[in-house]
Amino acid sequence: MKVLSAGFVKSALRPEQYPRDGRPEIAFVGRSNVGKSTMLNILLNKKGLAKTSKTPGKTQTVNFFDVNGNVYFVDLPGYGYAKVGKSLREEWAKVLTSYLTSQRPLRLVVALVDSRHKPAGQDFDMLELLEQAQVPTLIVATKADKQRPNELAESLCDIRKTLDIDSDALLVPFSALTKAGLRDIWNVVDDALRTKTGKR
Ligand code: GDP
Repeated sequence: MKVLSAGFVKSALRPEQYPRDGRPEIAFVGRSNVGKSTMLNILLNKKGLAKTSKTPGKTQTVNFFDVNGNVYFVDLPGYGYAKVGKSLREEWAKVLTSYLTSQRPLRLVVALVDSRHKPAGQDFDMLELLEQAQVPTLIVATKADKQRPNELAESLCDIRKTLDIDSDALLVPFSALTKAGLRDIWNVVDDALRTKTGKR
């Protein structure tokens, strides 16, 4: 897809506040600081459009971005602040679950993990919730530029093993600095937008 226009639409606290016009959605989720807003801004070609809050305890909203007037990119709340307690973890799971179970026209979830770290804790919670919801998922390993090619290849293997994902499941390394992986991500997004999944 060529992005001709992109803009922030709204932050929703509850499902009743989600847009109701039935446009297909591509959602993005991952640990705070994983590079989610950087990636969204690159995909949407607009610096500063998606912003991260580095403040633990901040209210967790679902943020909708209009793309070309016919698709929504959905920025789901981040997770995994070191200092965050159980209640915020539960709040995050609640927000994610209510989005995933709201019968959205959701075509794909892009789940971000840091290519340098073994997935842990809430990364598993995230993937479990996605699996339960049976949504097509693309896993993106971010900050690929921070490793040498052989280290990166090893990390990707590790991520596959740790997350127990099939060798044919989609795992794309991405770098915001070199833009490596950007084309692959767009290919999957474009395919997802073309394919109407039977479930939703
Ligand atoms: P978010 O909390 O997931 O939205 O993370 P941000 O997009 O705010 O990124 C967190 C930090 O990682 C920022 O300092 C970014 O500049 C940096 N970052 C994001 N993507 C990359 C990348 O691909 N390579 C490198 N080297 N740094 C990145």
